[in-house]
Amino acid sequence: MTDIAGKLADVKDLVAKARLTGAAAMPVLVAVSKRQPDERIEAALVAGHRVFGENRVQEAQERWAERRGLYPDLKLHLIGPLQTNKAADAVALFDVIEVVDRPKLARSLSTEMARQGRHLPCYVQVNTGEEDQKSGILPDEADSFIGFCREECGLDIAGLMCIPPVDEEPAMHFALLRTIAERNGLPGLSMGMSGDYEEAVRFGATSVRVGSAIFGSRDT
Ligand SMILES: *Cc1c(COP(=O)(O)O)cnc(C)c1O
Repeated sequence: MTDIAGKLADVKDLVAKARLTGAAAMPVLVAVSKRQPDERIEAALVAGHRVFGENRVQEAQERWAERRGLYPDLKLHLIGPLQTNKAADAVALFDVIEVVDRPKLARSLSTEMARQGRHLPCYVQVNTGEEDQKSGILPDEADSFIGFCREECGLDIAGLMCIPPVDEEPAMHFALLRTIAERNGLPGLSMGMSGDYEEAVRFGATSVRVGSAIFGSRDT
């Protein structure tokens, strides 16, 4: 089996090396556990890792609902598209919602957080590549949407998230995300995956989402 503890240490090491000199804090490593066999998740937990990313609510419930009781310091990030009718379940299970990308979803999350008394930090997902098939608010609409989330919905917007197009240099997308965050006074930047997390950190990522580089390839 893959040496999960060793891989975690390697990725953390490379994140630390890529970190901007003078950057405030070490970027958070979100270990993306979607579609990974259970023994790999256990190995990461045994190695002391506590921050995980999932892209589907139901799959995350199956994997994490019981483990919550065993690991009270767990931090679960939702990083995949969220349907409005799953907002209640998402608010109940996750600690950070990284995929706020449209007014209807922002309103549902706001309502659910109030109802459950769970005011979770959120990220606005930006579709920096303006791809039709990808979620995220368009760059041109980001400023007004961020304002809407904060002022109309009272969401705690911690930062921005993006997934660059697979066939393009990620650098310009990381730079664009940072520009939008800076002009909106947002400190958090969730960007960088297995193939490009070092570059993302060099562009100021405060959080990277790394799956296969830690756990190996996923079940399909
Ligand atoms: C699956 C996924 C990741 C992790 O991808 P890897 O290439 O395995 O590191 C990161 N972010 C999002 C949004 C994902 O869906």
